[in-house]
Amino acid sequence: MFSPVIVLRAVVILLSLGYLATTAPAQSGFSIDNIDKSVDPCTDFYQFACGNWMKKTEIPQDRPSVNSFVEVDERNLVTLREILEKASSGGSARNPIDQKIGDYYGACMDEQAVNRQGLAPLSAELERIDRAKDKSALIDAIARVHLIGPNPLFNFYASPDLHNADMVIAYIDQGGLSLPDRNYYLKDDPKMVEARKSLSDYIIALSTLSHASASEAQASAEMVLRIETALARASMDLTLRRDPKNLDHKMSRQAAIRLAPSLSLAVYFSDLSTPDFSDLNVANPDFFKQLNAVLESESLEALKTYVKWHLLNDAAPWLANPYVEANFKFRQALNGQAEIQPRWKRCVQATDRALGEALGQRYVEQTFGESGKARMLKMVDSLESALSEDINTLPWMTELTKKQAQIKLAAIRNKIGYPDQWRDYSQLTIKPGDLMGNFLRANEFESRRQIAKISKPLDRKEWGMTPPTVNAYYNGSNNEIVFPAGILQPPFFDRTIDENVNFGAIGAIIGHELTHGFDDQGRKFDSQGNLRDWWAEQDAKEFEKRASCIAQEYSNFIAVDNLKLNGSLTLGENTADNGGVRIALIALQKTNGQPGSPASGNQLGGYTPEQRFFLGWAQVWCEKRRPEYSRMLVNVDPHSPGRYRVNGVMENMPEFDKVWGCKAGRGRGGAEMCRVW
Ligand SMILES: [Zn+2]
Repeated sequence: MFSPVIVLRAVVILLSLGYLATTAPAQSGFSIDNIDKSVDPCTDFYQFACGNWMKKTEIPQDRPSVNSFVEVDERNLVTLREILEKASSGGSARNPIDQKIGDYYGACMDEQAVNRQGLAPLSAELERIDRAKDKSALIDAIARVHLIGPNPLFNFYASPDLHNADMVIAYIDQGGLSLPDRNYYLKDDPKMVEARKSLSDYIIALSTLSHASASEAQASAEMVLRIETALARASMDLTLRRDPKNLDHKMSRQAAIRLAPSLSLAVYFSDLSTPDFSDLNVANPDFFKQLNAVLESESLEALKTYVKWHLLNDAAPWLANPYVEANFKFRQALNGQAEIQPRWKRCVQATDRALGEALGQRYVEQTFGESGKARMLKMVDSLESALSEDINTLPWMTELTKKQAQIKLAAIRNKIGYPDQWRDYSQLTIKPGDLMGNFLRANEFESRRQIAKISKPLDRKEWGMTPPTVNAYYNGSNNEIVFPAGILQPPFFDRTIDENVNFGAIGAIIGHELTHGFDDQGRKFDSQGNLRDWWAEQDAKEFEKRASCIAQEYSNFIAVDNLKLNGSLTLGENTADNGGVRIALIALQKTNGQPGSPASGNQLGGYTPEQRFFLGWAQVWCEKRRPEYSRMLVNVDPHSPGRYRVNGVMENMPEFDKVWGCKAGRGRGGAEMCRVW
């Protein structure tokens, strides 16, 4: 699979709202009963808003955490399961969509057949790697593995040209790690050492299942760890990768090939039958120089072992049970999840990954009404005008830059619910009783779809998330905000609840996504999605000064044990949270000022309209995480934990102090409040 940003097994597209990994039924939604009235809202607003929720909510055994996203996702899984069970029992009279989603799910649910087959469904692919006679023949095997699944050694993908977003070009980038981030290989603290041991145990387990002797399995683990450690050393740190300028290295095809002669990229591109291209972006050129050294120093045997490992690891969740269990044990070491999800949940998720816009069609038919879309559009409008007003009144920005910012804001497009045009899966063959075959073919189908984009104009209608996804994103190249149908449900968006709560929840989320267009990363792209500096020098300095206040503020928050948040890694998300809540409040005040507004004056649960606004935001982020999972996220997640998505923002809002009757400036021990937008 080819994708720009990969976090564990969840693909996070650009700036998503903040939910990683996979998946507790519970009645979710805004509720006064979640509030712990024994807590002073001025001291710890998160604990106040979520205290009772935290007392009554347990992390489900089959999840690393629980929060609103997880609760809504669990509801969705039940809906999707019904759709898939119906589709899989439909027989030959089904339409092509139901045949594909039904047979994918049905084959996945046939656990007995999968167990009977053992490793056989993957054997041909593993043998193909074994047959490579020398290192130069190995590139053919690597190209094949990239096509059908994981990305050993490096990543290859299609993405808009940073300087001409209308055109899609080829990218090569760092990659090839099995642990979540380079730090896992390079740091010596005990938790990181433990994680490497878990990976080593996992490699030994899968190798042994695949008929290696004890000493062979041990040797395989050593080879894989050695190669991945070298790749980790060559990789750029996640925080540095936040700056698009650090990933901007367009060069000729020949120059890219020369960076790593031993990689044989010319052969690789030809193996993949890419469209013609003369230039490509090498996101991290230094990585490829060091990759070349790895290819020269490692034996053919070690490299084959490494490539086979990646294929086996990627396929393990869809092989016989012993493979599934070994894979789960490894993931469990990283995220603390107590039990594996029941098979049906895993199979629903697999069908969503493989055929998301086919399954998504059925999902929106059942769940998504046009009236919801109309109300969302109205809210997006009001958030956009609030941001426009906010920009106009910013005390630190000069008129020239304000004008540019307004141009960019006016150009932001929005996508709500589901795509106008559904993806065509007619060329993808899905067979009953062939889980691994379906899995590999679906991966290849998607890889080829991505490769075909190279040297073509950007398709701005395309979606980066499937309709049932409980998430949202801003895409800088498209300069667009996107809200799949999955997130347009309580507690994010509730058609039955008062507008104050909705403005604090989905309103502030819309504001969050809009603000991404103007955070430390987004501000470097212009209205057309091109990497271009449109800032007056003085304004850029003022921005940096204000952003560093936020980076420092969040760097003091404790994620778990003695681990503090990385204020630089989370800067964009924290900036978006602070900006999002502020402009949602501006939008709400304008709405409530209008005659006939639903909220004027009433006191739901004893709370004023504006208090309900803040409660709406806070309750979106009620959350419990297993400690292992917290430790992992602090390393890889650009989002802050729920507690700080609430308290971090409240510390910066004099409006909050006023609404809740708090002593002014209470939050930061007298330190200055931070404000960018
Ligand atoms: Zn975000």
